[in-house]
Amino acid sequence: MSITPLMPVYPRCGVRPVRGEHCHLIDEDGTRYLDFASGIAVNLLGHSHSGLISAIQQQAATLMHVSNLYGSPQGEALAQRLVDLTFADTVFFTNSGAEAVECAIKAARAYHQSVGNDEKYELITFNNAFHGRTMATISASNQEKMHHGFMPLLPGFKYCEFDDLAAAKALIGPNTAGFLVEPIQGEGGIRPASAAFLQGLRALADEHDLMLVLDEVQCGVARTGTFYAHEQYGIAPDILATAKGIGGGFPFGACLATEKGARGMTFGTHGSTYGGNPLAIAAGMAVLDAVGNEEFLAEVREKGDRIRARLEQFIGNYPDLFELVRGKGLMLGLKMKVESRPFFVHLRDNHHLLTVAAGDNTLRILPPLVVGDAEINEFFDKLSAGAADYQIPEAA
Ligand SMILES: *Cc1c(COP(=O)(O)O)cnc(C)c1O
Repeated sequence: MSITPLMPVYPRCGVRPVRGEHCHLIDEDGTRYLDFASGIAVNLLGHSHSGLISAIQQQAATLMHVSNLYGSPQGEALAQRLVDLTFADTVFFTNSGAEAVECAIKAARAYHQSVGNDEKYELITFNNAFHGRTMATISASNQEKMHHGFMPLLPGFKYCEFDDLAAAKALIGPNTAGFLVEPIQGEGGIRPASAAFLQGLRALADEHDLMLVLDEVQCGVARTGTFYAHEQYGIAPDILATAKGIGGGFPFGACLATEKGARGMTFGTHGSTYGGNPLAIAAGMAVLDAVGNEEFLAEVREKGDRIRARLEQFIGNYPDLFELVRGKGLMLGLKMKVESRPFFVHLRDNHHLLTVAAGDNTLRILPPLVVGDAEINEFFDKLSAGAADYQIPEAA
C-alpha cells in the first residue's frame, strides 16, 4: 500500500513544527522559524499565549461539551459581546470557516424563501474568491482547480469579476438572492475591494432587497486594524462569516446576521453538534478579551502602517523582484514580478521565515497581531537577506 495514513490532499513541506513560542515555531529537529503566516491568519495571539491557554485549560476541567439542546450561558455571553462589537443582532457558532459560510449561504436563501420567494436562491460571487472546501463553498468559487473531480457543483452561484460593480449590477436577475464577497481576497492574493465597489454592492442590495453577505473568515477579527474589515469601508453587511482568528488557534467560527438577515433561520432550520460548545466559547472569549478593544486595534493599525512603509522602501531596492505592497493592517501582500512560490520556499527553507503563498504571485504576510518590534526587525533582516541571495529559478 503506498497511500499515507494522512490522506494525501496536502503537499506538505519539510517544516514539521512541534512547539510554538510567541511569534516562532520550533521544528522537530529544533530549527526555529519566524512565523509570519500564523496558521493562515489564525494564531492572532501568537503561540502559547497565556490567557488563551488558561481559558482553555480551565474550561476543559469544568465543562468541555454539552449539546445545543441545552441552554448555553457561555454561548449567550459571547454572542452578546459580538452583537455589541458589530453590526449583528444574532450569532450562530460553527467549528470552521466553511461552516460559517455555509450558514451564511443558507441564511441568504432562507431570507427570501421564508416569505415564499423560492426563486431567489442565487448568490453572485467573485472571481478568485475562496470560501472553503465543502461542496457549497467550492461551488461559490470560480476556481476550477477546486472543482476538478468533484462535479457536479451545487447550483445557485454566478461568478463575476472582482471589484467590477457594473458587472455585478448586470448579473442581477429574478433569481438573485444576494452577493457573497470577501472585502479583502485572501487566497486570491490579498486584494482589497475598492470602497466604491463594496459601497456599490451595499446600495444595490438595498435597492433590490438582496442580502449582502461578507466572508471575513480571513480578513476579520482585528487582522486589518478594525474588528471587521468592512468597518473601514463605511458599510455593514446583512450576514457575515467569521472564523480563523476568532478562536486564536482553537477551531471556531460564526455566522453573524442582522435580525433581517436571519429572518429565515428559525427553530429547526439549522444546527451543529459541536458549534459553540463551552470549550470553543472559552477560546473565543479569551481572544475577544485580548483584541476586542480600540487600544489593541490601534496598535494593529500602527504596526501595519510601520511594516507597510518599510516594505515599500525595501521593494525599491529590488525593482526586478517586487511589484507592489497591498492590504490593510497586518494583512499584507507583496506582489512579485516573478513567480512568488519559489521565493516563498527560499525564505522558508534558507532563511527560516514563514509566509504564505497566494494567488496573483503574491506573498502573504500575516504576522500574529501581537508581533513586537524585535520580531518585525527579525522579519526585515530575513526578508532582506532572502532577497539579496535569491536566484530566480530558470523557467522550466
Ligand atoms: C480559510 C477561509 C475559508 C475556509 O475556512 P476553513 O476554516 O478552512 O473552512 C473561507 N473563506 C475565507 C475567506 C478563508 O480565508
